[in-house]
Amino acid sequence: MTPPDIRSSFSAPRPDMTKPRIGRVLVVDDDEPMRKVCARILAHEGWEVVQAPDGRTAIGAVLGSTEPFDCVVSDVHMPEVDGFQLIATVRRHDEELPVLLMTGDPSLDGAVKAIDNGAVSYLTKPFEPETLIAGVARAARQHGVARMRRRADSYALKLMAERSELEARFERALSTVWMAFQPIVQLSTKTVFAYEALLRCDEESLKRPDLLIATAERLDRIHDLGRTVRAAVAKASVSAPRDALIFVNVHGLELTDEEMFSGGSPLAEIASRVVLEITERIGLDPTTSAEQMSALRKLGYRIAVDDLGAGYAALGALAMLEPEVVKLDMSLIRGIERHPTKRRVVGAISILCRELGSRVIAEGVETKAELDAVCAAGIDLVQGYLYAKPTRGFASVAL
Ligand code: C2E
Ligand code: MG
Ligand code: MG
Repeated sequence: MTPPDIRSSFSAPRPDMTKPRIGRVLVVDDDEPMRKVCARILAHEGWEVVQAPDGRTAIGAVLGSTEPFDCVVSDVHMPEVDGFQLIATVRRHDEELPVLLMTGDPSLDGAVKAIDNGAVSYLTKPFEPETLIAGVARAARQHGVARMRRRADSYALKLMAERSELEARFERALSTVWMAFQPIVQLSTKTVFAYEALLRCDEESLKRPDLLIATAERLDRIHDLGRTVRAAVAKASVSAPRDALIFVNVHGLELTDEEMFSGGSPLAEIASRVVLEITERIGLDPTTSAEQMSALRKLGYRIAVDDLGAGYAALGALAMLEPEVVKLDMSLIRGIERHPTKRRVVGAISILCRELGSRVIAEGVETKAELDAVCAAGIDLVQGYLYAKPTRGFASVAL
């Protein structure tokens, strides 16, 4: 297909000059008001936004651009070249360029089709600006992790450009790691079902867990960080209520650490009380994942898929990991009472999980209205600020 002349058919809103430029994103939608709103939201965040009013123009923009895009956000239903055809053409040009599809179709079939076609995520219309911002940031981050990390986190990481300085900060962080615990509440029994362990440290510049993890990735120290976290969880677990499970986040690269699979490791000692939370952030390998999950289960661990609906964890993860527990990402929960489409997606996923034998946790429940909507969708396990924030010990919850 000859790319059309794109110069006259798309325009680029000026990014907010007060914010650092994060990267380039292509917004594709034949619905002009929708496209412009998305472009404005992203430009305001610091993205350089290029707009295309249809799939052909978008293909021209991707193939003809001298500067690469970090992410494409595209409507599914467009005349001539639709979102799926756009992905197929983009894939031939760039295997990794992330494409987020926007669809008004809230059905599971639509979601599965979008993800099967190579979309890194799908956004069901209407969505909140935060959902778009988070979706694009995550997708772009997935794309060329190191390059985007340098840009997206540049306001923090630029300060520590020197590798040795970064290493010193990382060492300080590693030596001051502690775990915060956040309760996961079981509504039917009014009990604390479990606590999620969340990484914390006392090194000021790396207090945010995502920054600390990004730094470990950059320094190739994920195994060290993972071992430290797992040991810290095992140590803290002695004061955990005996009847509550402990959820532990596992980075994809930890699955390449032999210590993770050792029966003699500190966490393995309490494996029967531990649920390992896995996301697809790093990209799970279907051939090895099944074996790895089976090895972890032999040690006594249970498996959860984290952040389902965030773009990291596609529905394919359910088939790949056969998790005992599925955690719905908070982007699906936020304001759910105002969004019929979110309710339908959450309801459908919850039915699907029940059929597959997985328990469902709604993550990030902040308000009573969100809680009511989540209950109405048949979900019995809830985590969020409504009940408790993560704290240093195992907080009890008044239920
Ligand atoms: P996650 O595993 O999805 O954890 C949930 C995050 O949501 C936590 O952020 C938690 O503090 C926050 N949260 C819980 N309830 C609410 C709520 O009602 N509203 C809002 N707005 N937020 C809520 P945190 O602790 O900053 O962790 C961020 C991410 O960093 C985690 O997301 C996880 O992906 C990663 N992470 C945290 N600890 C570890 C760890 O020990 N190992 C690994 N590999 N990753 C970790
Ligand atoms: Mg988690
Ligand atoms: Mg999560």
